[in-house]
Amino acid sequence: MHELTLARALIAAAERALTAHDGRRVTGLSVSIGAMSGCEPDLLSHLFPHAAVGTRFEGARLEVEFQPVQVACRDCGQTSEVEPGRLLCPVCDSLVVTLIAGEGVFLTGLRVSGEADELGV
Ligand SMILES: [Zn+2]
Repeated sequence: MHELTLARALIAAAERALTAHDGRRVTGLSVSIGAMSGCEPDLLSHLFPHAAVGTRFEGARLEVEFQPVQVACRDCGQTSEVEPGRLLCPVCDSLVVTLIAGEGVFLTGLRVSGEADELGV
């Protein structure tokens, strides 16, 4: 995955979430990065300030939360954290599992100057 493209996509998503807060400067963004997303959290944190130059996100703090891969087993019903690339149930070794977390990169929160509360997105 191209982290600079991703950083720009996050800014675009945050802009859409901020339509009710026109003109406010953004002080922080929270992002969830899935273990299977292919996104390197450190690289994204490094590139984000560059993508933010000239936008209201310039100087904003990017808080990255790493989301491990989780599967739900359709045989034994357990939900477990697994390694990316080992999508089987660690309880009963079943391969009949549903991926429930660990994919994709999501904007999970925004902080805007002058507001103490984090906005849900
Ligand atoms: Zn199982």
